[in-house]
Amino acid sequence: MSITVVGSIAYDTVKTPFGERERMLGGAATHFALAASFFEQVRVVGPVGEDFGERQLQIMGTRDVDLADVERVAGGKTFFWHGEYGWDLNSRETLDTQLGVFEGFQPKLSESSRSSEVLFLANIQPDLQREVRGQLPQARFVALDSMNLWIEIARDPLVAAIEGVDCLILNDAELRQLTGKPNLLTAAREILTWGPSVIVAKQGEYGAALITTESFFALPAYPLETVIDPTGAGDTFAGGFVGYIAAHLQEELSDELLRSAMAHATVLASFNVEEFGTERVQRLTREEIDARLAELRSITQFSGV
Ligand code: AMP
Repeated sequence: MSITVVGSIAYDTVKTPFGERERMLGGAATHFALAASFFEQVRVVGPVGEDFGERQLQIMGTRDVDLADVERVAGGKTFFWHGEYGWDLNSRETLDTQLGVFEGFQPKLSESSRSSEVLFLANIQPDLQREVRGQLPQARFVALDSMNLWIEIARDPLVAAIEGVDCLILNDAELRQLTGKPNLLTAAREILTWGPSVIVAKQGEYGAALITTESFFALPAYPLETVIDPTGAGDTFAGGFVGYIAAHLQEELSDELLRSAMAHATVLASFNVEEFGTERVQRLTREEIDARLAELRSITQFSGV
């Protein structure tokens, strides 16, 4: 089942202890689409400026990605983000965010983007997420990601957006910040009363947890000795998670299916952090994903209980 995603398409300037890149292709929707397109066709909705290059568009369309709803705004500037990481790659500082063409953006989705059964509302202004959600009333699975900035400056619209989705994917610290609850499980359980039936707590290099009303599941991150740039890991994780679910939507949304989606998400994200921006995932193959899935399974299995 095809997937529609709305979110940032960006130029990112990133510095980590291992190097830096200026104005590389980034954005939440970009990272998501590159990962989710391993599983199903992805339709990207979002604006870019006149400064957005043809080469960047080609990278976004590496696999089965429909770019018909990527709107090029005449005279506009592409969303820009500047971030820096210290030795602890789990925390980063945002040095600059320029919304550019996202300011005043009115999404007008094509017939095909509106017909998707799966929708991912990637990190962007919550009102925009709600607006797009409203254009796909029949979607069967809708997931949403956000970040501390929107919790700080637009909490009420964000809560309203969350109320209208099936699944919330957020960093664990952001789940605590959003609910004001210091305990992750309590925070997730509160959000389960707002509307979503699935909560995914991303925990950076420590992995991710899945919380539903009936169950709990957690996976460590795939162990890597070389991590270069975590930018986009969360969106790549979401691409693996939502992409896998979209490919199995004919089945019931069982615990087994959600756990398998967590494993695919974990593996996709592990590739993303090995190089800057989209560099690694652009040339990733299905065979590499399958090999790492098998390794992840073997390192998380135990017996004797
Ligand atoms: P992640 O590392 O998964 O949290 O995602 C990083 C990506 O999100 C970068 O490529 C940025 O372009 C994008 N990004 C950063 N800040 C924002 C924001 N305020 N709104 C939307 N996208 C953002």
